[in-house]
Amino acid sequence: MEEKIKSAIRNIPDFPKPGIQFKDITPLFLDPSLVKEMAVAIAKEFQNRNIGAVLGIESRGFLLGPLVAQELNVPFVLVRKKGKLPAKTISHTYDLEYGSDTIELHEGAIPANAKVLVHDDLLATGGTAEAAARLVEKSGATVEAFSFIVDLTFLNGAKRLSALAASHSLVKY
Ligand code: AMP
Repeated sequence: MEEKIKSAIRNIPDFPKPGIQFKDITPLFLDPSLVKEMAVAIAKEFQNRNIGAVLGIESRGFLLGPLVAQELNVPFVLVRKKGKLPAKTISHTYDLEYGSDTIELHEGAIPANAKVLVHDDLLATGGTAEAAARLVEKSGATVEAFSFIVDLTFLNGAKRLSALAASHSLVKY
């Protein structure tokens, strides 16, 4: 599966700005059997961990996250940028290189005291996943683990997240 994933991921140089090599994961989703295989592989990794919810980070965390949640038979919870969720929200503001960002989830969406699996497509510096984890903590739940399709290991995101929970990825670069 690792080889299939790596050969499907498209590398786009200098996107969205010079010096960044963007890992385009959209081709993975053109192959339904690979999508299923990835969801099953992630769910298998966490099937004995008493996960109570899978939390997906906007927007590419919404691609595989719901399928992993379905495999684990637990709720899928959306984390979105400020102002997108219509009902009452819990929010968390975090620092970026320039300025700050706010993310939100619906109050009551995570079952009480649930162990949460935080999912996104790709782990780079870990800043986004860390912010999502803070939001989980604010909601009163705990982060059991982080899950990614891709880990850019040279950016040490898993190390940054290790104080919160362990990270799992299907492929590493
Ligand atoms: P970070 O907060 O630095 O871990 O960045 C992770 C977020 O940015 C994820 O939501 C990714 O989708 C996106 N991202 C960061 N770097 C890349 C990259 N080189 N290729 C594709 N997506 C990226």
